[in-house]
Amino acid sequence: MTEQQTDCIFCNIHSKEIPSAKVYEDEDVYAFLDLSQVTKGHTLIIPKTHSKDIYDTDEEVASRLFSRVPVVANAIKKAFQPSGLNILNNNEEFAGQSVFHLHIHLIPRYDHQDALG
Ligand code: 5GP
Ligand code: ZN
Repeated sequence: MTEQQTDCIFCNIHSKEIPSAKVYEDEDVYAFLDLSQVTKGHTLIIPKTHSKDIYDTDEEVASRLFSRVPVVANAIKKAFQPSGLNILNNNEEFAGQSVFHLHIHLIPRYDHQDALG
């Protein structure tokens, strides 16, 4: 765990060196739309402290990150009005992690076919 890692894409996103579509921000976390939208409104929440995954994270950083899930979920619900929402976190390549800065996916689900339209 470190404050910021210059070669990390998500560190560069929350510090605004790389542009992103912001959904929510406070002193501890940053939430933004995933570049490849699994469904409309697919959002990632990241801690502003760099941890590569859940194993590399202390209780304080994890509790701050996970405590912000409801506020971001409600922002998504209000903006996109999905029929449901999946919340997930991938750790290590074998489990599908491709960016090695801890993040939580919020994936809205829709009862109609054209959720990406
Ligand atoms: P993972 O597979 O590690 O759980 O999820 C990483 C996510 O980051 C992927 O869904 C991918 O689309 C997203 N992602 C990767 N690079 C960028 C980027 O530069 N900007 C945004 N907004 N999302 C990104
Ligand atoms: Zn990082």
